[in-house]
Amino acid sequence: MNIVILLGAPGSGKGTVAGKLASENDGLKHVSSGDLLRGAVAKGTAAGVEAKGYMEKGNLVPDALIAQMIKDVVAETTGDVTMLLDGFPRNLAQAKILEEMGAPVKSAVLIDVPDSIIQDRIAGRRTCPKCKAGYHVRNLPPKVEGICDVCGEKLVIRKDDNPETVKDRLVVYHRETEPLITFYREKGLLKSVDGTIGVDNVAAAFLKAM
Ligand code: AMP
Repeated sequence: MNIVILLGAPGSGKGTVAGKLASENDGLKHVSSGDLLRGAVAKGTAAGVEAKGYMEKGNLVPDALIAQMIKDVVAETTGDVTMLLDGFPRNLAQAKILEEMGAPVKSAVLIDVPDSIIQDRIAGRRTCPKCKAGYHVRNLPPKVEGICDVCGEKLVIRKDDNPETVKDRLVVYHRETEPLITFYREKGLLKSVDGTIGVDNVAAAFLKAM
């Protein structure tokens, strides 16, 4: 098992690209920290109850809480698999936790999208609460409006995708997560792809870069 980290602002397309690549390539596994946390919130586990308030405000949940979930997934992932790790690490402390786990990071790929485009992208984002497939009302619409192509579930708008919370999430991204770009560049692991060229092209560029 090895790990490719996806870096990029909320709404840069990390989940869409990782989901697409994992569905099209055997041996790639998409692991989203946000999906793990939303799953825990939906189930009402102790971790979910603790995480909920942070997530609704657009803040990061405590490092130890999300790190334990990632540790569990890393431990259960064996064999010839590349894990596309989406949303973790989110700050330098988490990057160090990942190193301490001994997880073999192959590369960190930044999906680069300017803030000016992010707000519009998130405003149009729709998500399947059941299978986690992601859509955009204009850029990536489902075949039937409001319905998931994959499993037929009714699509929802994520609670933290409202404009006010998005602003807060971008502030958190620039303050906490952006330093990871330098961190992985200095380790010689950083790659970067233009995140504005359409989902198929971004996914192809990502696959080449990783
Ligand atoms: P995402 O789906 O990646 O946009 O994550 C949604 C929310 O989950 C974030 O705004 C955070 O509140 C929380 N979250 C996801 N990943 C992490 C992480 N690695 N560290 C702390 N909080 C996280």
